[in-house]
Amino acid sequence: MSKKILIVDDDATNRKLLATILKKGGYEPIEAENGLEALNKLTPDIKIILLDLIMPLMGGLEFLEIFPSKKPECMNIPVLVLTTDDSKKTEALHKGAKEVIIKPINPTLLLDKISSYL
Ligand SMILES: [Mg+2]
Repeated sequence: MSKKILIVDDDATNRKLLATILKKGGYEPIEAENGLEALNKLTPDIKIILLDLIMPLMGGLEFLEIFPSKKPECMNIPVLVLTTDDSKKTEALHKGAKEVIIKPINPTLLLDKISSYL
């Protein structure tokens, strides 16, 4: 079974931190710097998408809106939004995010949330 998790965040430090947490949890992280790169790297064997909201080129809300039509074979992959800005929480949930987790990330909590969607 695939253990791939797509990390979408423009902040390299955040991506590295998340990748470290995921590897410790036994997962295989794949990194994208923005929504556009995420669309290119999105494949049906990815189990979860961890999505930042504020990113250049294509932000998280736009990605949420368009990925189901651009990659219909991936439309059922759960998206967990990770953000510092909880004012966008309702909008992210309306656009299909399963959860909005406020940064900074608690590693144990994150791995628990991920396993609850697998
Ligand atoms: Mg960002």
